[in-house]
Amino acid sequence: MIVILHKSSTDTDKHALALFLQENNLAYKYIDATKTFVIPKFKQEEKIKVFKGIEKIISIDTPYQLASKLYKTNTVVEVKSSKIGDNNFTMIAGPCSVENEDQIFQVAEFLHNKGIKNIRGGAYKPRTSPYSFRGLEKTGLQLLHKAAKAYNLNVVTEVLDTSLIGEVAAYADIIQVGSRNMHNFYMLNELGKINKPIILKRGFQAKVVEWLLAAEYIMSGGNEKIILCERGIRSFDPSSRNILDINVIPLIKELSHLPIIVDPSHATGIAKYVTPASLAATAIGADGLLIEVHPKPAKALSDGDQALSFEEFDELLKQTQTILSAINKKSDLETFTFKLSR
Ligand code: PEP
Ligand code: MN
Repeated sequence: MIVILHKSSTDTDKHALALFLQENNLAYKYIDATKTFVIPKFKQEEKIKVFKGIEKIISIDTPYQLASKLYKTNTVVEVKSSKIGDNNFTMIAGPCSVENEDQIFQVAEFLHNKGIKNIRGGAYKPRTSPYSFRGLEKTGLQLLHKAAKAYNLNVVTEVLDTSLIGEVAAYADIIQVGSRNMHNFYMLNELGKINKPIILKRGFQAKVVEWLLAAEYIMSGGNEKIILCERGIRSFDPSSRNILDINVIPLIKELSHLPIIVDPSHATGIAKYVTPASLAATAIGADGLLIEVHPKPAKALSDGDQALSFEEFDELLKQTQTILSAINKKSDLETFTFKLSR
């Protein structure tokens, strides 16, 4: 159950309800910014509505509450001039890792020329082996930020640990929580306290309910700017890196108000499947795509097999545009739409 207090409600109103919940041993969370009580599991609305200062009570049966579609119809995450969610389509692209100044500037210039507004690049990399390239760390953040600034792009980059949130937030416009960290509850908690949009990737073994509860961790801290990202789940079959769970897109749209984008690069792990998977994701209703692009995929320091060259990415854009026009979806990338349709 979600109980929203009136803006004009007093501290006495809040304390009276809090006291009732404590006395009855009911788990709850109060969110100051929105004057909202989240009382999961409690169903007796009649016991709540007698309290003063209540604007609205929303009964929600699922374990996730704030992430539920019953709480809100639609979340649109705004990042400078970009809008993610609702009927906008957002493209985020860039290399798996920031490798050097020349590489990231080449990518930034290319994306800018295509009308793309968001550049991704890892500076802190979660690698399976400690001997693999693990990113340029702070230098990587600085290079990414410099390139993004030169070409007026939003920075999307991953935070690997709670201790790095401050540093990453200083350079990022959107912070990515990677698949391996979706279950890092302490970090999710801390991300709830900052005012930055978060891309929350699905854990590669996470159920939908676990993913939405991970979003709930961030939201219950007061940060509602969340973009879910399907990036493939692990399967028994090594033929592709992961399985892109395509049906999760309409499913999430039904369960939640949060925007959902798709990362077909990590889902497929193979460059030639990235475009077909992108088209499927676009057609089924994804709010955007997150694509790995590299000036020289064969030389990439991480995830080269799945990186698109500039030419391949250009083709992906053209084909995506065809799907967007067919489903009558407005692209967030006005300039991208414009350039491609000319
Ligand atoms: C990435 O985006 O480069 C990445 C490591 O993604 P994931 O967390 O989905 O594996
Ligand atoms: Mn990668």
